[in-house]
Amino acid sequence: MILILKPHITPETAEYRQLESHLARLQNIELRVHRVQGVEQTLTEVYLIGNTAALLVEDMRSLPGVDHVVRVSEEYRILGRHKDDSRSNYFDYRGVRFSQDTLNVFAGICAVDSPESVEAMMQSLRDNGQVCTRMGAYKPRTSPYSFQGHGKNCLPYVFELAGKYGIKVIAMEITHESHLYEIQEALEKTGNPTGVMLQIGTRNTQNFELLKSVGRQQEFPVLLKRGFGITLDESLHAAEYLASEGNQKVVFGLRGMKTNIGDPHRNMVDFAHVPVVKRLTRMPVCIDPSHSVGSRSGSPEGILDIMHVTAQGVIAGANMILVDFHPKPSRALVDGPQALLLDELPGFLEDVRIAREAYEKRLSNSNFYRNGVSVSDKPD
Ligand code: PEP
Ligand code: MN
Repeated sequence: MILILKPHITPETAEYRQLESHLARLQNIELRVHRVQGVEQTLTEVYLIGNTAALLVEDMRSLPGVDHVVRVSEEYRILGRHKDDSRSNYFDYRGVRFSQDTLNVFAGICAVDSPESVEAMMQSLRDNGQVCTRMGAYKPRTSPYSFQGHGKNCLPYVFELAGKYGIKVIAMEITHESHLYEIQEALEKTGNPTGVMLQIGTRNTQNFELLKSVGRQQEFPVLLKRGFGITLDESLHAAEYLASEGNQKVVFGLRGMKTNIGDPHRNMVDFAHVPVVKRLTRMPVCIDPSHSVGSRSGSPEGILDIMHVTAQGVIAGANMILVDFHPKPSRALVDGPQALLLDELPGFLEDVRIAREAYEKRLSNSNFYRNGVSVSDKPD
């Protein structure tokens, strides 16, 4: 059960202390208090965990300082969708909105290799009106002998170049808590020219200690990739770890499942789960067509599979696209074979626009249908 307090109530107020002493008398109930920063105001939410079945919503609503009460189901308590749940469904970061209604493209380099390729990428993004990107500095690799990423050494030039080209948010995977501090320090040293969305990769979806430490900070939003060999439910619970530690600014990423059944794609594309994640939770949903498909193969009519699956995800309502590009894929240190070329960026963005427009048309069509008029009754 969640008690959402009136906007002016903070843990320092007298009403809060009264509320706290009421709640302390409840048997077998543990409290977790979250301060949730919205666009206009910061709200205090009190999560009651334990035997809440016997508590009446009306009783809890009448306690001091309580604005409204949400009875949550067992599943995905914080990030899930619950009946009569009016909690906000979006977050803003660095002036960019993330919600289940928006769509943001994060085209960029899988693994940072040189300042030259980062600059070429950023320039191309700016020239095409983009304000977000992906840049890998810490790379989890199958072999310990493969390139592991330039780590903290590349952060200063990545952040400075982002500032120079007006990039507001960089999705950047971290594999250890220490990387979070390295990013914080580099951002500070370079004068905070850009923002970072911390990415938890598919190999770390169930690294619970990493999830807890990333969840404990609220400065950076988080992109959590679905685990490639676990159920959707298990990955959604992993997202809930972030929220239960205090960070609700979470985007959920689909990136394909590891199975030979998806061959010749690198992973079995799972973008049919876009609407499922939106139904079960309040998280914006990201698709990663590059790591799903893993190559530049295309269909006979000349459209790359990466573009086909991107369109499939977008037409199903995806909210974010993480996609690999590289100025010279043959020189990329990681995942060159799946990178799109910089001169393919305008065509890629146009394809996304077409698919998004189709999604929006589908939305108005479904409203029409839901209003009780069947599609076949639709007037000309
Ligand atoms: C990546 O986005 O660079 C990456 C390694 O993705 P994943 O964790 O989905 O494999
Ligand atoms: Mn990669």
